[in-house]
Amino acid sequence: MPLIKEGLFVGTRVDASNLVSVKLPDATLRILTVDSEPLQIEEDGVSTKHVTCLDEPEADLLSFFDECSDFITTGLQNKQTVVVHCLEGMSRSVTIVLAHLMKSDQLSVDEAVAFMKKIYPKANPNVGFLEQLQLYEAMGSTVDKTHPAYKQYRLQLLASQIQSTQLVTKDLLSSLIEELKDNTASNDKKYKCRKCRFMLFGGDSSIDHEPGSGQVSFRRHKQDSSAVNWSNSSSKGPCTSLFIEPVSWMLPLLEGTIDGKLPCPKCGGRLGSFNWAGMQCSCGKWVTPAFQIHKNRVDESRIVCRSFVQPIQPEQSSS
Ligand SMILES: [Zn+2]
Ligand SMILES: [Zn+2]
Repeated sequence: MPLIKEGLFVGTRVDASNLVSVKLPDATLRILTVDSEPLQIEEDGVSTKHVTCLDEPEADLLSFFDECSDFITTGLQNKQTVVVHCLEGMSRSVTIVLAHLMKSDQLSVDEAVAFMKKIYPKANPNVGFLEQLQLYEAMGSTVDKTHPAYKQYRLQLLASQIQSTQLVTKDLLSSLIEELKDNTASNDKKYKCRKCRFMLFGGDSSIDHEPGSGQVSFRRHKQDSSAVNWSNSSSKGPCTSLFIEPVSWMLPLLEGTIDGKLPCPKCGGRLGSFNWAGMQCSCGKWVTPAFQIHKNRVDESRIVCRSFVQPIQPEQSSS
């Protein structure tokens, strides 16, 4: 079983089972299982953690990077032998160890992969996991739930889940909206219905895209200049819509359907529409999933300072 750094091994399910069957002194072994099934361990004194995950590009491992890295770090600090394993010891377990190396040793994805491959040439994370590691790097090797790219990532995961099952349940939606809502406190931009002035969403809910054609993906949102050139070359026209993340007033409209209209919750005026399978912006860009609001149906306002919102008293009401 390859030793990646002092005390930290990566391996197969068989490797991990074999190690468990060797009687080590109590509390010296720590096992992280990244597989659909937990490892059966009868021995006492072994610290374990199980993350259920399939070795598929669309499986979400990113959300577990921080907690897995913490689990590894704690073991190493306590001088335990830490084993991260999946079934074959090539993709899932390797991805977790790469994320840990990025976080603990401040490595980039490329540096971590190069380091790993030198010690362990069999290491081979699937393409989706590699993209998740790149997103992790873009977020500063931490799962930053307020990062626009992370929000986009979560929405796309949910969109592919919804497209494959065609099931849009209230539970699924409300947990998503709850998660997104946590992130919307700081922005000072507000969008109101042009007709009735109802406050529809904050600036943090808007998901920017680079104008152009083709599928938008969080991977291409990285601010490298090649991506910008690529999208500008096929631009059709200005964006006449805003694309946003789902917000709480949409909940009843979204339940049980993968597409539909988005009327204002107060006056019923038409604002736009949504489609979990994606929609094309006027600029030609495909956005998936799409929660589209026509710019000409909303007004943008900035709250510069909250104290200015207080009602102005008449100067003197001399009577
Ligand atoms: Zn556009
Ligand atoms: Zn309205």
